[in-house]
Amino acid sequence: MHLKSLTIRGFKSFASATTFDFEPGVTAVVGPNGSGKSNVVDALAWVMGEQGAKTLRGGKMEDVIFAGTSGRAPLGRAQVTLTIDNTDGALPIEYAEVTISRTLFRSGGSEYAINGSPARLFDIQELLSDSGLGREMHVIVGQGQLDRVLHATPEDRRGFIEEAAGILKHRRRKEKTLRKLDATQANLDRLEDLTKEIA
Ligand code: ATP
Repeated sequence: MHLKSLTIRGFKSFASATTFDFEPGVTAVVGPNGSGKSNVVDALAWVMGEQGAKTLRGGKMEDVIFAGTSGRAPLGRAQVTLTIDNTDGALPIEYAEVTISRTLFRSGGSEYAINGSPARLFDIQELLSDSGLGREMHVIVGQGQLDRVLHATPEDRRGFIEEAAGILKHRRRKEKTLRKLDATQANLDRLEDLTKEIA
């Protein structure tokens, strides 16, 4: 599995559609300060489901949408598409090439898609989590983050290891199931109360 290409449109400083083609091996992005190198990494994290505006160096999620410059009006939506080569079947989906995309509208709506079909954030997380590309993006080490890992609390460090080992996916499923069980128990309690009232 390797990342094949990334297309960014209306995301942060990338107003026009811009495509990065990655060859197998190492890719280096070079450029002057403030030219948008970190925005490329932010786009990668974002399309893979990142939910933290702060992680993306913004105040709120809407800040990822191109905000305009002196010569160009702000845009109404940000869209990032990532194409992954899956010829080795590392992703649990029967396609040799997988495209995931995420769109955010300034008006508030948000959309995800897998190979062009509408998907939920959960589907993207499930698809990627076995590949080591997890929700918390520990595969993306941003500037200053190495320091964070080195000084992490034992709990946080355990989280990093759990994610790398693919355990986090099962923990997430367990939490989801426990929430459903709680809701079902609440319904049962209510039903019992109603039955008592009627009897
Ligand atoms: P450095 O080398 O200093 O870390 P960099 O090349 O990584 O810089 P980035 O941090 O990726 O640069 O890009 C910063 C630029 O992106 C700034 O000029 C900022 O104004 C611009 N930018 C960020 N968010 C938006 C947005 N929503 N709309 C327009 N421009 C944005």
